[in-house]
Amino acid sequence: MSAWLDAPLGTISIADLGLERDRREAALHAPLRPALFVDKDGTLVEPPDPDDPPALAADPARLRFVPGAGESLARLRQAGLALVIVTNESGLARGAFTRVQFAQLQAALVKRLRDEFDVIVDDVAVCPHAPDAQGRPACLCRKPAPGMLLRTARAHRLDLARSWMVGDTLDDVEAGHRAGTAGWLLDTGAETLWRRSPLREPDAVFSDWPSLTDQLLAAHAAACAVTTTTLPAAVDAVPPDALDEVPGAGSPDEPIASSPPPTPLNGAPAPV
Ligand SMILES: [Mg+2]
Ligand SMILES: [Zn+2]
Repeated sequence: MSAWLDAPLGTISIADLGLERDRREAALHAPLRPALFVDKDGTLVEPPDPDDPPALAADPARLRFVPGAGESLARLRQAGLALVIVTNESGLARGAFTRVQFAQLQAALVKRLRDEFDVIVDDVAVCPHAPDAQGRPACLCRKPAPGMLLRTARAHRLDLARSWMVGDTLDDVEAGHRAGTAGWLLDTGAETLWRRSPLREPDAVFSDWPSLTDQLLAAHAAACAVTTTTLPAAVDAVPPDALDEVPGAGSPDEPIASSPPPTPLNGAPAPV
């Protein structure tokens, strides 16, 4: 809730409303941010014990961070990455725990990350659906489907091409690849099927958070260097008045010629 909505009625002015509109406008045109999409069970926190009653999977008292996870998220956040937790929670569909119980677990997780590691999570995306009888997603959001990543990327203006999906199974890797991110595997022993396909091939495999984070920060810094040095250099190479010297370039008032309309492929509607 924004500050002016919380303010006593008498203090709201037209100027405040204008500022709020400007803030929304600015957010709309802000550059896309790179992000870390991170799986929850087995990657961020220790997976629930399969021998425990299912309801305990949502018990906040049972939350244990995977070694190095909190410290790593703090380093990645500090480097400017948005953080989104993406989690399949078929326990909700199976009735193992209720939405209220899960909301309490999620709140505890977000609070502990903030209190213990100074980490602010941008979003937690949850798929509450069960898979089909073959174990495949029956919805658009359950990983390995990319729905949770695509939806949060749109909501938070995240740059999928400069982002990472990190998880402990090949389903996480595939979800990342389907969304357009890199897919990195934190191999903590959870993946047992190793069903391979090009989309399930991890771009990198690590056995611990610190080494994954070192590598990710290096890749992120390299991507930032490309965006901040190469692009302006290329733009600077063209003098602002270059068009004036091109014979027949026309007057500056002339509208820029529009590019030809895209050709439809096999009669399919042109992409927009
Ligand atoms: Mg997992
Ligand atoms: Zn779903």
